[in-house]
Amino acid sequence: MFLGGFDRPVRVRGCDCHGCDQAGDFRAPKGRTQLTEYYWFCLAHVRDYNARWDYFAGLSAEAIEGHIRQATVWERPTWPLGDWQKREQQLRDSVEREFFGDGFAARPATPPMAAGEREALAVLELVPPVDFAAVKAQYRILVKRHHPDANGGSSAAGEKFKIINQAFATLRAVYGTDDA
Ligand SMILES: [Zn+2]
Repeated sequence: MFLGGFDRPVRVRGCDCHGCDQAGDFRAPKGRTQLTEYYWFCLAHVRDYNARWDYFAGLSAEAIEGHIRQATVWERPTWPLGDWQKREQQLRDSVEREFFGDGFAARPATPPMAAGEREALAVLELVPPVDFAAVKAQYRILVKRHHPDANGGSSAAGEKFKIINQAFATLRAVYGTDDA
């Protein structure tokens, strides 16, 4: 949006909210870990945006701006860490949908891990992120430890051995390459 004559154009930042033609005078960090990246909103929309964090619910525009300047406030979780991350993800998703419209180029989301992959990693006692080399190394260790021949051919060992092999097959399909 431009205001003023051609001789002295004044650049005015527009509200980032989809379809809003107000000036974006109020900034809001894009996320708790993105304190130097901002959305810019009009007063109504920055209130709406910030209200979603609960932390800012009911505050005046001045108070909101004051809190945002004290960036440390974003480092002080009011929920357990896991809830923070979940809530932040939900907030970003809803902001991108509702504030920016369907045409907004959403950042590429990390695809959620498939249940099978998660289980297979747990069987191999691996914690993501892992690469296929790590999967193979761990598989070799567990296969040796749980091989029925190493356990007097017990059926429990045989069952565990089978589960490990299934888990490895699952992970090879996800992480592996043809020449691996
Ligand atoms: Zn707006």
